[in-house]
Amino acid sequence: MEFIQAIPYPVLAGAVFCFGLAVGSFANVCIHRLPRKESVVMPGSHCPACSSAVRPLDNIPLVSYIFLGGKCRDCATRISPIYPVIEAATAILLLAGFFKFGLSFDFLVYAVVAPALVIITAIDIEHQIIPDVITLPGIILGLTVGSYTIGYADSLLGFFLGGGLFYSLAVLSNGGMGGGDIKYIAAAGALLGWQKVLLVIFIGAFLGSIVGLFQIIVQKKSRKSLIPFGPFLATGTLITLFYGNSLIQLYLEYLVG
Ligand SMILES: [Zn+2]
Repeated sequence: MEFIQAIPYPVLAGAVFCFGLAVGSFANVCIHRLPRKESVVMPGSHCPACSSAVRPLDNIPLVSYIFLGGKCRDCATRISPIYPVIEAATAILLLAGFFKFGLSFDFLVYAVVAPALVIITAIDIEHQIIPDVITLPGIILGLTVGSYTIGYADSLLGFFLGGGLFYSLAVLSNGGMGGGDIKYIAAAGALLGWQKVLLVIFIGAFLGSIVGLFQIIVQKKSRKSLIPFGPFLATGTLITLFYGNSLIQLYLEYLVG
């Protein structure tokens, strides 16, 4: 670790940002292929319109998109701006995590979780699912890391409390809550423990109702076309990762007394 401490902080931050761009580029592959049950390893990147393979130099996150003017070099079809947005968002999130956690075990866990949250958000908005290939490994990761960071009792409690609450909601609401949401919140509970999983649900429900009301009243959308719950749960998880301790402290001091 000593050689890392010798690296100037801005250089380290820049390296984290570039790493984030690369992870974001892989996140794009996952977002595109996981819902279609395609391999995320093979084949290499290709244009969705003309299927030509993307040249290595045209495959640099963010930079290539800008240089190519957002078009495929072979067929000039417009490439969705979602791709560079996902890359930039992932890089910014990793940089923010680096500022918050430093180079620590917490950052290592965060560097796995944050890109997964980006992928979940994008897939849930487009396909209204949270794939098992993310949530099931997430549950294993949550229970393993949780047992180490918060103890296995709290980890298990968070798992059952989150999963149990959403399962009950699914039964009561007759399908208003999807199986992906249940597995997601069970994984979050296992990682964060019982207090913070309640915070995730509270923040998610709060943001979801505000945006939902906006969509219904201002955009005149029907209940069926609303943004699904996953992105709000992911945002709630992110906020809890950064500010969970302070928010719970505030709650205990001011509201419980
Ligand atoms: Zn093309």
